[in-house]
Amino acid sequence: MRDYNSEKSKVILVKCTEYDEDKVYEAVKSGLELLGGIEKFVGKDERILLKPNLLKKATPDKAITTHPTVFRAVAKLLKESGYTRVSYGDSPGNGNPTKISSSAGIKEVADELGIEEANFRQGKMVEFPRGKVAKEFVISQGVLDADGIINICKMKTHALERITGAMKNIFGCIYGFNKGLSHAKYQSSDRFAKMLADLHVMIKPRLHIMDGIVAMEGNGPASGTPVQMNVILMSEDPVALDSVFCRLIHLDPASVPTNVNGEAWGLGNWHDDHIEILTPQGEKSIDEIVQQYGNENFDVYRGDIKKAGFHRVEWLMKLVRQRPYVIKEKCIRCGICVNSCPVEGKAIRLDRDKGTAPEYNYDKCIRCYCCQEMCPKQAIEVKTPVLRKLLDKIVS
Ligand code: SF4
Ligand code: SF4
Repeated sequence: MRDYNSEKSKVILVKCTEYDEDKVYEAVKSGLELLGGIEKFVGKDERILLKPNLLKKATPDKAITTHPTVFRAVAKLLKESGYTRVSYGDSPGNGNPTKISSSAGIKEVADELGIEEANFRQGKMVEFPRGKVAKEFVISQGVLDADGIINICKMKTHALERITGAMKNIFGCIYGFNKGLSHAKYQSSDRFAKMLADLHVMIKPRLHIMDGIVAMEGNGPASGTPVQMNVILMSEDPVALDSVFCRLIHLDPASVPTNVNGEAWGLGNWHDDHIEILTPQGEKSIDEIVQQYGNENFDVYRGDIKKAGFHRVEWLMKLVRQRPYVIKEKCIRCGICVNSCPVEGKAIRLDRDKGTAPEYNYDKCIRCYCCQEMCPKQAIEVKTPVLRKLLDKIVS
């Protein structure tokens, strides 16, 4: 592992305003050159897994999944550089991985370039005694079959961790419903981030490339709104990359548990003075890139009542905790949310005889938001109680 205490992390930022095949290819190519070339990260004989975000069945315009032109650019560059043992895959929250990669437009690109689908239909328990929080994981076979992973993540909001980027995308290496069980095991955003940091230490992705041309704001990571951000970010350091993403959306990187724990685990740096930003136009400061590409209106949860210590008062927390909520008019009563819930006995129930929308048992709900992620109709939103909004204002 690199010594991120003494070294600055390089984050590459390349402007790219549209999903035009040639433009995205040139952007990714120039970014990789600034990083020293793909050969720096993966050997020619190694089995390389490309890990896009394939959270659920969705077309590319929804900004839920990594856009196929970004995937194509990375895959094509590998092929052109003589890499022959390249595969791709992700373990979605729910559903068939092949169908999901097909709806995302990734399968078509992979088939065209002769990149095989990795095995995300099986998983294996792997012990990890070195883990600080997680001592074992059930890992998808496709990940175990690979020598190295290139993480091609998507710039999005996330109900539990505020954002999902390079750190969170690796969660898809966990096989199938074990992801839901991990939510049940590591319930708070902090514990969950610590588990993710252990997962990164174990898997050690070689390189992280973020599709931030069109990002997702609001009710992410699956029901938010696409928003133009016009960048592709790349780094060997997932924490620094996510931290730059935070800066671009005017979110304090220290408020993101995956950043704070990622740095504590030695995975990288989130502090600005430990990050060097390189662009094809030369080195830039954080202020310069924020001025050029930043979006202060990006819809992401910015509140933090923890600052005032309110989280220690249990009865108050019950009143102010965010909660998932079903928009009845949008709900088609499919029951996917119920199946996604990892809580024993389920914290959300659908009474098919009554024909009404699902109802929550908030006392049981652990706020993992798997139901919100998996709802095919964007019928679940995460709501912030008015009292919490007030408290957030007071302490901000
Ligand atoms: S997944 Fe969404 S649409 Fe399906 S029952 Fe649940 S809330 Fe309704
Ligand atoms: S109801 Fe939704 S948010 Fe609550 S525990 Fe179940 S899946 Fe998670």
